[in-house]
Amino acid sequence: MNAFRKNIPDKTFAKLNNNGDFTRLAVSPGIINKHYSPAQFQTIAKVVGETGAIKYSASYSIILSIPTVDVTDATKELQDAGLYVAKQGSSVAMKACDFCDGDKMEAAPITEQLYHSLEGLTVPTRLRLNVNGCASACYNAVYDDIGLVYQKDSFDVYLGAVPMGPNAQAGTLFAKRVGVEHIEDFLKQIIELYKEHARPNEPFYKFYRRTNSEDYWEMLKSKTIKTGV
Ligand code: SF4
Repeated sequence: MNAFRKNIPDKTFAKLNNNGDFTRLAVSPGIINKHYSPAQFQTIAKVVGETGAIKYSASYSIILSIPTVDVTDATKELQDAGLYVAKQGSSVAMKACDFCDGDKMEAAPITEQLYHSLEGLTVPTRLRLNVNGCASACYNAVYDDIGLVYQKDSFDVYLGAVPMGPNAQAGTLFAKRVGVEHIEDFLKQIIELYKEHARPNEPFYKFYRRTNSEDYWEMLKSKTIKTGV
């Protein structure tokens, strides 16, 4: 098999849409779990069928191209197989490490709580929030819009990463040791600032880099300190 030049996909999303109407679904075994079961792979193969396509992505999910007319049924079938189908569009999208395949679950309950309260909130452009369960941060939280790195009952919060392109850069440490009891409210305030002050369709990193000397960021930080976090 040729792993390079001769191995070009013939079912890219663009090629498929030249001959039909296809929709992409981002599918994964869960926010934390990264292990697919054989039965889940069989379901994926079934819903994609002969016409669609399967591709792996850089964001811990598999991208399925499905004929748009079949998307509702396909989504239900995937969910019935225990798969997580990510919401699309301009909303908060949660990611997380696999907590060492479930061996280091200290931050899992708060991650689930954050998922229920933040995932899907409408924002100017898609906002990726990545939770990593220890200081190793091996799932690259600091390269997402909001990176949370867990350390003993608290999170270090990184903002402003440029996730790709020639100027790609990790985010910078915005707040250190925000207690788990405060993190949800803290993140909600960051999201509110983004909604309130961003230009139309402004990505989070551009917004943060343009505004990071504004008083409201300092106020947010000092409020954190005042609450004794
Ligand atoms: S970030 Fe830490 S807890 Fe998460 S998978 Fe990597 S080593 Fe494990």
